[in-house]
Amino acid sequence: MVQDGNAAHFEGGCTCGRVRYRMTARPLFVHGCHCRWCQRETGSALAINALVETASLELLVGQPELTLTPSESGRGQKILRCPDCRVALWSHYPGAGEKVAFLRVGTLDDPDRFPPDIHIYTDSKQHWLSLPSDVPVMPQYYRRSEHWPAESLERWKVLRDY
Ligand SMILES: [Zn+2]
Ligand SMILES: [Zn+2]
Repeated sequence: MVQDGNAAHFEGGCTCGRVRYRMTARPLFVHGCHCRWCQRETGSALAINALVETASLELLVGQPELTLTPSESGRGQKILRCPDCRVALWSHYPGAGEKVAFLRVGTLDDPDRFPPDIHIYTDSKQHWLSLPSDVPVMPQYYRRSEHWPAESLERWKVLRDY
């Protein structure tokens, strides 16, 4: 993390180094998603996505490439990948639109910084994995208004209004 007055900067990038970015705001909320689709796409037990305003993602080096990928809703998702190593950096979903990025937390230089604020779709959680007891664990999705901090809801409202 780079401290610059009040602003916090968090940098990250792909594996080959062709794409580097800076996140200039703290995430609105962080999802640990245990759906089968995320498990397949990550090859792992869950995807960790930091929801953040797309406008708060600055490219430092390179340009990610948009890949249309099927999604469970049937409406598809847009995954932004490094054009060389193909690592996925963030996604846009039709529900939230392109103003919101689902940033893959594992691509941050300090991925430990943003553990999930909530675990979702845990109906398909891999059984060997134990979840912490201090964050909500939802069998499916959840209501934003019941879980997000007021400041994030306010930022979300601004995003949806303009
Ligand atoms: Zn790369
Ligand atoms: Zn998922």
